[in-house]
Amino acid sequence: MKWKSHVAIAKAISAEMGLPDELERALCNGSVEPDRRPDAAFREQGSRLRIVRAPHHTPPTGTIMAYMWRARQAYLIGNDYWALKNLGRGLHYIQDKSVSPGRNFRRHDAREEEVADLCPMRHAVLDGIDAAVCSPRFVRRCVTDVRPLKNPDEIMHQATLFSAAISASVLGPPEAEDELLDKYRVAVNAYRFRPAIGGAVAAGSLTAAYLGVHPAAAVAGLAAAAAVVVAPSYRRLCTEAEWFGLDAHKR
Ligand SMILES: [Zn+2]
Repeated sequence: MKWKSHVAIAKAISAEMGLPDELERALCNGSVEPDRRPDAAFREQGSRLRIVRAPHHTPPTGTIMAYMWRARQAYLIGNDYWALKNLGRGLHYIQDKSVSPGRNFRRHDAREEEVADLCPMRHAVLDGIDAAVCSPRFVRRCVTDVRPLKNPDEIMHQATLFSAAISASVLGPPEAEDELLDKYRVAVNAYRFRPAIGGAVAAGSLTAAYLGVHPAAAVAGLAAAAAVVVAPSYRRLCTEAEWFGLDAHKR
């Protein structure tokens, strides 16, 4: 996407969110920065790894999420300038990802020219802000939902909608709601006792296997222990809590 479009989307979001001039500038600068100072990515070439410019039209979700986390963490400690700069850098990739590069980039440049003639739709900004949920899971879903499009109007609409939704999530309430806090506290307390229980289950079934009592019990026991260690729902809850600056493992 052209710089004109990146900046126009940043300004449209800033206007609806009522950002002061300095922060609007940070968002605009961040939004064009990956073209000026590209992110690095690794590419395998034979047996060697080469450092290349990170792709803009097919960006890895992890690259975008890293910027969103940096933005959120800066926002939580009150470093708004750094927050908006990082948010802008992440949004650049959301916007580029909206443009289909086409086969061999043949129609790509013309498509970006056509998009540059369009203004971000105000209703897309408002819809994005309205739909936003202050959660890293929501941001990740937005990132993965962005599709490469061909129609200039649709490109501008999608880029604006998702950019606004992500901005509202990153710059959402700094404090977690009571419901999340309660769930998190219960989970952290429950989790503290889990490694002991998991260890006991594993040890018990290994002893049983050793004694030749019931080898199948060993497999079941280890599976149970692994489930306790991995516990995806617990980890997800921790990630949600971290969005609000809570970290169970930092105490
Ligand atoms: Zn770019």
